[in-house]
Amino acid sequence: MTTLSVPAREGRAFEVAKGGRFRIVTPEGQQAADFFAYNARVVGEWLSANHTWIKNRRVKLRDGDEFQSRYRRPLLRLTEDGAGGVHDLMIPACDQIRYEQLGHHGPHPSCSENLATAMRRLGHEIAVVPQPVNFFTHTVVESDGAFNSPPNPVAAGAFVELEALMDVICVVSACPFDLNLDGWTINSPDRGPTALEVGFL
Ligand SMILES: [Zn+2]
Repeated sequence: MTTLSVPAREGRAFEVAKGGRFRIVTPEGQQAADFFAYNARVVGEWLSANHTWIKNRRVKLRDGDEFQSRYRRPLLRLTEDGAGGVHDLMIPACDQIRYEQLGHHGPHPSCSENLATAMRRLGHEIAVVPQPVNFFTHTVVESDGAFNSPPNPVAAGAFVELEALMDVICVVSACPFDLNLDGWTINSPDRGPTALEVGFL
């Protein structure tokens, strides 16, 4: 199995041919993986979290779920969830403005910048940051509609396995979120952001 390392706070892009399978792993656990995907031939067709949850009729992922493009076509399938369903389809990718609004001063790495940089390495200048699928991210919609991110329970070595249903470009960002906010824990509050691994099967 060949592997691609995604360093903490950084992003990486990779191409997967139709039928190819790969795993995204959080070796240390508790690390959000912002995931983006594009039709490799038409990068204007990207994975849409919203279209995915309406197709599957739930805002959480299960084994076998299809990831839909914004044109409502299947891009990928979740063939195995090795993280107990702790994934999010609701939170937009973090960006510089988000960090400033939360009180951070100066530049801060972000999943939005990681996406743009990773796509540039493949020669694509993106104009839009799509709503990502956030693997290993713990969010809860409360019965009164409130939306929270409780402490991340994802264990070391947890993974998701995906199969490409067309030729795709994928981007994984090891979310750099490292602020200590009450009721909003994205990554491990102790270790801070950690690296991810992508393994090609
Ligand atoms: Zn992020």
